[in-house]
Amino acid sequence: MNLVLLGPPGAGKGTQAVRIAKAFGLLHLSSGDILRAERKAQTELGRKAQDYMDRGVLVPDDLILAMMMVHIAKPEAAKGFLLDGFPRTVAQAEGLDQRLAARGARIRIVVNMVIDDVEVTARLTGRWSCPKDGRPFHETFSPPKKSGVCDDCGTPLTRRKDDEPDVVSQRLRTYHAETKPLVKYYTEAGILKNVDATGGVDQVTALIEKVCRTA
Ligand code: AMP
Repeated sequence: MNLVLLGPPGAGKGTQAVRIAKAFGLLHLSSGDILRAERKAQTELGRKAQDYMDRGVLVPDDLILAMMMVHIAKPEAAKGFLLDGFPRTVAQAEGLDQRLAARGARIRIVVNMVIDDVEVTARLTGRWSCPKDGRPFHETFSPPKKSGVCDDCGTPLTRRKDDEPDVVSQRLRTYHAETKPLVKYYTEAGILKNVDATGGVDQVTALIEKVCRTA
């Protein structure tokens, strides 16, 4: 079974993707995580993607498609994969469909995580983490004991550049302009399932599992 998790930044795609991939034995492929790893390793792709990512705009479709198809072709993906953060434009979705069809494969279900901009803005701009041990915190949902520092090692917390308020606004504008049209694209393909993503993590996981089991 091949799945896509769709939704705005901050909908909880990453968190849910890990859980759903585990529950259904799928390879989890997050385009954002793959790009961040490429950046960290300072590969040619990582260097090309860097500036787009910091501005909160999309990396060009051809680069993303080529990158994701390398991962989809891996033997670990043969039993099924879960795409998180990709596709993000209609051109990416069309490119993906064509490349999968050439391999005799297709996307079975697209789970659309529905949540409004006010809620996702609060979720994203409140995220902080410890640069030393990676421990995540949230200003509202899981604040550190002492404001601004890690509970474990006292290191000052940092925020992802693309979680800064002005970049979050840009990411949401990009989502509405470029990614939202995928709701229509996959509805017309007859494979879109809407899930309310405003609840707690366990509640949303249960809703996604249910739509995947009954699809
Ligand atoms: P994410 O962690 O999924 O929000 O991705 C972080 C950044 O990586 C995005 O703001 C984009 O700049 C870039 N990115 C991730 N996935 C894609 C994609 N499918 N197409 C274009 N750019 C992407």
